[in-house]
Amino acid sequence: MNQEIASILQKYYGYSQFRKGQEEIVQGILSGRDALAIMPTGSGKSICYQVPAIAMDGIALVISPLISLMKDQVSALNQAGVRAAYFNSSLTSRQMAAAMYNAKQGMYKIIYVAPERLFTDVFLDFAQQASISLLAVDEAHCISQWGHDFRPSYTRIMEFVEQLPRRPVVAAFTATATQQVKQDILNQLRLHNPVSVATGFDRKNLYFSVERPYDKTEFILQYAASHPDKTGIVYCSTRKNVDELCEQLNARGVSSLRYHAGLGDRERLENQEAFLFDRCRVMVATNAFGMGIDKSNVSFVIHYNMPMNIEQYYQEAGRAGRDGEPADCILLYSSSDVRLCRFLIDRGLEDSETLEEEQKELLRHREYEKLKQMTFYATIDTCLRQFLLRYFGENAPDSCDNCGNCQENGQMTDITEAARDLIAILVKTGQRFGAGMVVDIATGAKTARIASFGFERLSEYGSLSGMDKRQVRAIVDHLITKGYLAVLEGDYPVLKVTRESSELRNGHCRLLMKVFARKGRAAAQKVQDHQVDESLMGKLKALRKQFADRLGVPAYVVFTDASLRDMCVKQPESLAQMREVSGVGAVKLERYGDAFLTVIREYAGRTRQEDPTE
Ligand code: ADP
Repeated sequence: MNQEIASILQKYYGYSQFRKGQEEIVQGILSGRDALAIMPTGSGKSICYQVPAIAMDGIALVISPLISLMKDQVSALNQAGVRAAYFNSSLTSRQMAAAMYNAKQGMYKIIYVAPERLFTDVFLDFAQQASISLLAVDEAHCISQWGHDFRPSYTRIMEFVEQLPRRPVVAAFTATATQQVKQDILNQLRLHNPVSVATGFDRKNLYFSVERPYDKTEFILQYAASHPDKTGIVYCSTRKNVDELCEQLNARGVSSLRYHAGLGDRERLENQEAFLFDRCRVMVATNAFGMGIDKSNVSFVIHYNMPMNIEQYYQEAGRAGRDGEPADCILLYSSSDVRLCRFLIDRGLEDSETLEEEQKELLRHREYEKLKQMTFYATIDTCLRQFLLRYFGENAPDSCDNCGNCQENGQMTDITEAARDLIAILVKTGQRFGAGMVVDIATGAKTARIASFGFERLSEYGSLSGMDKRQVRAIVDHLITKGYLAVLEGDYPVLKVTRESSELRNGHCRLLMKVFARKGRAAAQKVQDHQVDESLMGKLKALRKQFADRLGVPAYVVFTDASLRDMCVKQPESLAQMREVSGVGAVKLERYGDAFLTVIREYAGRTRQEDPTE
């Protein structure tokens, strides 16, 4: 990697290496070539245009379709020490004038702009005077009528470029591109000999499954209860379902908010912000919610209803696990979903006044074909990942070992003994830890934390070492679902035994559960190799929240979960060691390094003093 680029990556982002595809795009742009990057959500497209933008003379314009995304990207850049701004309709005219003044003074390296803004007199005048080095088109599939998010204003981007005194490098980015969409992007943006990267659609950290529960609502309630520390999105097809489910989740203590087109602008915005800022755990929404949602720590996306096509499904499901952590994408299928989809397709077409009858028929036929593929996905018994990847024109092996269908080989197993061991561990450790610690002890993990408490001396230590952590975690989840264990929310979730658990302990009942041969989930497993210390993580998150609240930005803009996790694993003792943590660049080190170090130091000191047998 060239030295200048390496130091930008380290200084502003705190990363020591590019991910697959990033360097090629960055080098291509820096050598003056146009670029087309088709990379899945969460793979790091932003860095592909931000790093060259910082390195090049002049200003980079980034065209982006949604306001919330721009705001967050700009906050994140400013936090990292890069001067950036955005122009869109959310600014008051005064804010707009101030930002424009700064832009003209050359204050910004990167400017995000909504496509509709390009042709306003003020913006066009500015762009014609300024030296524009790079024009990055984010969510470039919006340019194509074949895509699922067509935005007419995207088709005028080149008209804007033609009015500039000098053509900047043009780089297009998208996560979803079928062959037709790709061709549209190339043609319409008139990309010259672009450096082209397609890293593939596979998202290894996502676990896909299709479930057919008797009661979908109950399934979601139980899922939320057994994943108490996880945040996620539930998509429903109708507003009514959204409202009802949201109410039921809240009634069961799962903090949830709703989002659909029937709500006022204000409520939608507030709910979206609350979700982004981690003030609620579950967002229940129609497909009106999502595009531009850049939240990195979404751990599950559950579809209450089947979407109308695979493109939509993969995009919505893909909002899980942007941080690279294992995440679940679950589709709840029932045959009535097909009828609902047909109804929605027909109604959409009827509502369209601009289409001729013949065009409507053509579109109906196309949409029905797509629905057929979606229904195949929901009903096949072969590898789900393979189906998705093939749909997007990629080769994929017959089995991924990380989807519901590949793991169907689960067997009903008597887990009573394992459950007793887990409960004993919980009691002997004083019921003051989360599931991670209990699982670690049961599987015999060798962590500093276990050693510091002396837990390796417990007779149950390593008693479930024949299972992998995911399997044991699944048993813990099952015990929570069945009411033998409860989760107490506080700074961080703590497991407690319930009165019901005595039945198990006294041998009055036996417990069966379908246990999957989890040899898969390899990718997911890898990311979790270092089980993190949940109570330290809780403290770091609390500190992060203080900073984020003070600055009025979402928590991940201060540090991502992945960075906090790396802090828990590395437990740095000095600023120099803190610099080694992934995601800690020079500016963030200076701003937050000391505060986070203090928490880690205090914590490390305290755990050493604590008595394991108290
Ligand atoms: P996309 O736009 O492709 O969905 P983002 O640009 O939002 O993805 O990046 C997703 C996450 O990956 C962000 O938290 C980002 O900081 C992180 N990331 C990007 N590039 C790297 C890298 N080279 N090393 C580590 N993390 C990275």
